[in-house]
Amino acid sequence: MVFARQSGRSVKLLAPLAVAAVVLAGGAGAWAGQLQGTLTDLAGKGLRARVLAFNPETRDSTVAYTDADGRFVCEVPDGQLTVRAIHGPEWTIAEVQARAGDALSLMLQRIVDMPARGYYGADLHMHSTYSDGQQSPAEVALMCQAEGLHVAALSDHETVAQHPEWLATQTPYFLPLRGQEVTTALGHFLSIGCAEAVSNDTSHGVADISRIFREIHAQGGLAIVAHPNVPGMGYRSPEIRDYDALEILNGSVPPYGGICDFVQGRKAWHSALSQGYRVPVVGNSDNHDGLARLARRLLREPDRVAEIDNDLAPLVKLVDIEAVLVPWGWKGLHHGTYRTYLKLGGGAPTADSVMAAVKAGRGFITNGPLLLATLDGADPGAEVTLGERQALVFRAELFANRPLERLDILVNGQVAQSIAGPGPQVTVNIPVKQGNWVVAEAYGPWPEFATTNAWYVR
Ligand SMILES: [Zn+2]
Ligand SMILES: [Zn+2]
Repeated sequence: MVFARQSGRSVKLLAPLAVAAVVLAGGAGAWAGQLQGTLTDLAGKGLRARVLAFNPETRDSTVAYTDADGRFVCEVPDGQLTVRAIHGPEWTIAEVQARAGDALSLMLQRIVDMPARGYYGADLHMHSTYSDGQQSPAEVALMCQAEGLHVAALSDHETVAQHPEWLATQTPYFLPLRGQEVTTALGHFLSIGCAEAVSNDTSHGVADISRIFREIHAQGGLAIVAHPNVPGMGYRSPEIRDYDALEILNGSVPPYGGICDFVQGRKAWHSALSQGYRVPVVGNSDNHDGLARLARRLLREPDRVAEIDNDLAPLVKLVDIEAVLVPWGWKGLHHGTYRTYLKLGGGAPTADSVMAAVKAGRGFITNGPLLLATLDGADPGAEVTLGERQALVFRAELFANRPLERLDILVNGQVAQSIAGPGPQVTVNIPVKQGNWVVAEAYGPWPEFATTNAWYVR
């Protein structure tokens, strides 16, 4: 992956804490007028979706959401614009050139119906106006649906007061879950499915981390360690492993490679697996603003990162703006930017079926590529018995709205098989030994990435 290529304009990226949430913010450029249009599926039915319009030269941009009938109207910048309409990874992306004053008619096509395959896309970490987010719970729910999410938890800091408004947003296609981010000096912990707020007191030190997990479990909830590797989190207690999942990818920081891996949790997870720990993992957006204003402003004025957000400044010296930050920024930091596709089986998802799938690691994490894989016929998270065999059959079905570059199958963290330009179906034999762990990763053009949970060979 292209990473710290030297560039005249160095930028900082990455934030400690949740700050990283959104990078660029629209606003102040030259605004030319309105752009309007409709967005439908092939049958002509309106779709809720996100529309990004930007001038690639000035990097002025705007983000809008279509209504239930697929209509949108927004103020747009001057000049020749690139307009993208996005409805999550199960749909194509529409991209056209336009100018202010145009009226667009855009169409998206479904690539794959994941719920029909038993997979549901879940984002279990986001914020609303009940803590430091920019949108109300009802607005967050509509944005989640625009991103094609099926399940989401609204995890405001230190409160559950958002729950009544949030739970009222349920539809036959969207399941809102209770959430809270327990925000402590020793780390941030997601409490999913709990009706009562969990205290963030850490006056007893690491003993309080165990207490937090216990309180969550006593309420029948799910305990997830949020962004465990972000500097300043102070999560230094590898001996405490009674959480249910690690959030190894967080949408507010670039996904992988170099410093990104240092801040994201993927590498740390691999090292825990190699030490024999079976750790289920999730990826979440940690979205604070569905309009991504901070992020879009940084894209426009990368040299002023210290003025725009001083917390971001010290961390982001090593990343190349053009190669790393810009593609990542235009992809956007929205709800479901990272999401976990969980295999729930038949029937509509419920809080219990979602939590059971997270605990079992039955799924994959993605910011785009859809990677439905089995090892020896078993879903991710499973233990697979090797017996007398020397190898196991790995099968994958791959779908993506941008062409995939490669599929890697890792055994104990080493690439055992790398398939360039993988087709929609892959079947390979993977040599393994008892005690190995296996993970598959799909890469598209930066920053497109997906990883399965691990299989355990016994
Ligand atoms: Zn946090
Ligand atoms: Zn957060």
